[in-house]
Amino acid sequence: YQAKRDRTGVEVYESKRDSNTPDRLGLLGDLRRALDAHEVELHYQPKVRFDGQVAGLEALVRWVHPERGKVPPDEFIAIAESSGLMPHLTEYVLETALGQVARWRAQGLFVPVAVNVSPRDVHTPGFAGSVAARLARHGVPAGALQLEITEHVLLEDPTRAADTLNALTGHGVKMSLDDFGTGYSSLVHLRKLPVSELKIDRSFVARLAVDAEDAEIVRCTVDLAHSLGLLVVAEGVEDDETWEHLRDLGCDAVQGWLVASAMPADETTAWLLARGSRGWQRPAAALPAAA
Ligand code: C2E
Ligand code: MG
Ligand code: MG
Ligand code: MG
Repeated sequence: YQAKRDRTGVEVYESKRDSNTPDRLGLLGDLRRALDAHEVELHYQPKVRFDGQVAGLEALVRWVHPERGKVPPDEFIAIAESSGLMPHLTEYVLETALGQVARWRAQGLFVPVAVNVSPRDVHTPGFAGSVAARLARHGVPAGALQLEITEHVLLEDPTRAADTLNALTGHGVKMSLDDFGTGYSSLVHLRKLPVSELKIDRSFVARLAVDAEDAEIVRCTVDLAHSLGLLVVAEGVEDDETWEHLRDLGCDAVQGWLVASAMPADETTAWLLARGSRGWQRPAAALPAAA
C-alpha cells in the first residue's frame, strides 16, 4: 500500500481501487479483528441550526490501523460492503452510538444521534426489528435515533427497501437522506422514501459562495425539500460566507468544520456542556462589526 501523512502527521492509508488485491483482503481481516477488539471508534459531528441550537450529532467511524495509521472510512466501508462484513460493522456502530446516547441522556444531554447505514443493511432481513430491539435494550427512545441513508438503497429491490424503512419510521426512528444530489432520478426516489430530513451533499455546498450554478442548485433543493415538508441540512460548511448564504436561502441546519469537525465522545461531551443552552455561537458573529 501507499501511505502519506496528513496534517497531523499521522499516516493515512491509501489503497489502489481494485477490489480483491491481497492488500484489500488483508485489510478486511484486520477490520474484522479491530471490530472484535473494539479498536474502531466513533466520532461525533454536530448539526446546528442557525440560532446555534444543536439539532443532533452524526456518528462517524474512525479506524486507526496499528501499522497503516488512519484508514479513511470511505475506504474500509467499501471493503465491508463488498465482503459481507457490513451488517457486523453497522451493528457495532449502532451498539456503540446507542450506548453513548444512553450515557449522554443520563447526564441530562438529550441530543439525537444519526448513524449512517448502507444499502446492504437496509436489505438485511430483520434489520428494522433488530434496531427496535437495540433501542429498547439501551432504554433509548426511537426519536433519539436518526438513520442516514442514500438513494442507493432503492437500486436493488426498492419495494423491500421501502418496507424496511417504513417499519423503522413506524417504530419512531427518523430517516435522513444523505448526499442528496449525487444519486439518480432524485425526485422519484424522494417521493418514495419515508425521510424527514434531506442533507445536501458537500460537493454543492463547498463552492456555494463563489459558484452561481451551485448556489442555484442549493436554492432549488431547499425549496423542493420544504415543499415536501422536509428539513434541510447542508454538509461541509467551512466558512462564514457559506453559512450566511445558506441562512439566506432558508436552509434549516448546517454541519461542517466551521462549527466543529467530528470529535471523540469525551470531547463531544465537553463541547456540548461548554455550549449549554446557548448553543453554538459563530466566532465572527460574536465580534463587533469590523470595517
Ligand atoms: P457522510 O455521511 O456524507 O459524512 C460526511 C463526511 O464529510 C465525513 O467524512 C465528515 O468528516 C466530512 N466532513 C464534515 N464536515 C466537513 C467539512 O466542513 N469539510 C469537509 N471537507 N469534510 C467534512 P468521513 O468521516 O470521512 O466519512 C465519509 C463517509 O463514510 C460518510 O459520508 C459516510 O458515507 C461513510 N461513513 C462514515 N461513518 C460511517 C458508518 O458508521 N457507517 C456507514 N455505513 N458509513 C459511514
Ligand atoms: Mg452521513
Ligand atoms: Mg453526507
Ligand atoms: Mg458524503
